[in-house]
Amino acid sequence: MTQSQLISPAVQINLNIRGMRPSATVALNELSAKLKASGKEVYKLGLGQSPFPVPVHMQQALSANAHQKDYLAVKGLPALRQSISDYLQRTQGLEYQAKNILIGPGTKELMFIMQLTYYGDLVIPSPSWVSYAPQARIIGRNLHWLPTSLDSGLGVTPEALEALCKQDPDLPRLLILNYPSNPTGLVYSAEQLRGIAAVARKYRVLVLSDEIYGGVNFTGEHVSIARYYPEGTIISDGISKWAGAGGWRLGAFAFPPELSWLADAMAVVASETFTSTSAPIQYASVCAFEDSQAMRDYLTDSRRVLEALATYAYDRLASAGAQVNKAQGGFYLFPSFAALQDKLKSRGILSSDDLCHRLLEETGVACLPGSCFGRPADDLSLRLAYVDFDGEAALAALQREEPLDMEFLQAYCPRVITAIDRLHDFVA
Ligand code: GLU
Repeated sequence: MTQSQLISPAVQINLNIRGMRPSATVALNELSAKLKASGKEVYKLGLGQSPFPVPVHMQQALSANAHQKDYLAVKGLPALRQSISDYLQRTQGLEYQAKNILIGPGTKELMFIMQLTYYGDLVIPSPSWVSYAPQARIIGRNLHWLPTSLDSGLGVTPEALEALCKQDPDLPRLLILNYPSNPTGLVYSAEQLRGIAAVARKYRVLVLSDEIYGGVNFTGEHVSIARYYPEGTIISDGISKWAGAGGWRLGAFAFPPELSWLADAMAVVASETFTSTSAPIQYASVCAFEDSQAMRDYLTDSRRVLEALATYAYDRLASAGAQVNKAQGGFYLFPSFAALQDKLKSRGILSSDDLCHRLLEETGVACLPGSCFGRPADDLSLRLAYVDFDGEAALAALQREEPLDMEFLQAYCPRVITAIDRLHDFVA
């Protein structure tokens, strides 16, 4: 036995990481798979994975590029960076030069490298996606949760940002703004974005705009905050959510020229860690960002199905007494059952963790507790991802000229409908 084996393993773990558990989204996905394998019926509303297939022309491009074996440049394949630059120009009217675009193995990794590289406090609203805060903790950054209210859709307000920044105006800060939001489905209006941009500019707050769900904004008209704060906004996007390719692990950050120094510094870290992103995946992703009828149809159809499910889920949950906002994009709803707390308490459910635990045990519906998103345990909130259906079959059956009705949802998304109904019955 060596000397190091005599020391307890816990003591040998970096203090920032000691006591942490695997990311909630990933852990619940693995638990659901295990329960399923053991014969239990599980409705997987936990992991936010796109239910739709990767568009056929992207799959074909991947086959055609299977032979690409060389390491690529750290910042990414020039053709892919150019296609993302063109995409931002076409969809947002924004000038992000290809040389200031950084490709990575998923935006999650790029976010981590960004927090490592930029020396500023992290600012996020409560609730926020499960991994921003743990990344700050691993790296040792300070974290500020911005208070939110249901009236403002549980999102960032200029007032909350101002109140924080004026306490120490010169402190470097990184605000992560994510919309359509994971976990709430909130989309900020142009007026809200202008307000947030004005405060960010006043205090030189860096904005990382996580727009990974921009392609599944139900209106099809995603608006980036970069239109109002171009010099201080980094846009984060990828193919995981609107092109069905989460497992391909490809994400991109687009930097304005004023922040090219940060892109360069992040590329240094990238060169010492992941070297470069998978070559075949980069070649195959070029066409995802190009304008094509195939991509337009795919996105229009995906949004229609998601919006119909979001509406159904919203109506059912609201009728069960949940406080919940209508989703305007993405895959998620974030209801709170605090109004039913007396009833739930009498059944021994005191926290959002209890709620999700009992829900899974008694109904087979897997959701994530609000506590994973930075909410107080007693607000009895949870995130549900309405994605447990065969997106390929749904897209194939969808008739563009016909309304997408309940009959369609029952036929092609029956598991989501059953899961929402079970959740409704469980709390109501
Ligand atoms: N973003 C997805 C979610 O929130 C899954 C991927 C992940 O968390 O890494 O469920």
